[in-house]
Amino acid sequence: MLKMLFPNGLKKAFTTSYDDGLYDDLRLMELMKKHGIKGTFNVSSALYRPEGSEVEGSWPRFTLSEAVENYKKYGVEVAVHGLCHRDFTQLNQAELNYEIAADRANLEMQYGCVVRGAAYPYGSFNDAAVEALRANGIKYCRTVGTREDFAMPEDWLRLFATAHHNNPKLMELGKRFVEEPTKDCRMFYLWGHTAEFRCADNWEVIESFLEYMGGRDDIWYATNIEICEYEAAYKALEYSTHPDSRMIYNPTAKEIWVHEGAWGQDGAPFSIKPGETVKY
Ligand SMILES: [Zn+2]
Repeated sequence: MLKMLFPNGLKKAFTTSYDDGLYDDLRLMELMKKHGIKGTFNVSSALYRPEGSEVEGSWPRFTLSEAVENYKKYGVEVAVHGLCHRDFTQLNQAELNYEIAADRANLEMQYGCVVRGAAYPYGSFNDAAVEALRANGIKYCRTVGTREDFAMPEDWLRLFATAHHNNPKLMELGKRFVEEPTKDCRMFYLWGHTAEFRCADNWEVIESFLEYMGGRDDIWYATNIEICEYEAAYKALEYSTHPDSRMIYNPTAKEIWVHEGAWGQDGAPFSIKPGETVKY
């Protein structure tokens, strides 16, 4: 069995997830660009600030035109956050379906892409919410629970972050992630709301963290959906059956990197291109 590696044979991935379609996402996206970091913004499409209104208060959102202009300009992923940001666990099935389906459809029309990701409003989820997301074609959904570790998710529809940016151990976790060698693929997943930096006047927290985490050639900087769908593509690889044949076929549209790691000794990384069969 071959083990997954990230693109270009890397073993570490870093991604971010920020909620509510906030005006301060602009400042975060500028920082992310500066340090080569990619991420995802979760938007409730019924809650844009009215066009032409002032940016004021503690939690200002983007207007629709500001959001479309800026999320597109910075090339981030836009994902579902519930049409009206209602708690998914408090809704009946029809309301739940509408919160997900209408938000997804609005975002697709507004941003011109096929939306497959989500984050739970208030982080609240239950089995009915997970099933409604699955029925609406959503591939992953983030909670507000954090794990303070780097293991790949066991369940992408009950996705836990590594840390919120206010976690007192944030920098310690970042250093562990960067410095520790790893045998298996690892992901550092950061989440928060950019208005929290406005309220606490603590932009230096994220500035110093992204400066530390960014610009490294042994980390894959990716959006949430890029990591989720890369792993799904790895899982879709097909193996030949005879023990001497050792062939692997890639039926997906992504180049997938792998190596042999079964005997405690890591083999050299290699990739299987879309549609290719490789003997190993
Ligand atoms: Zn929210």
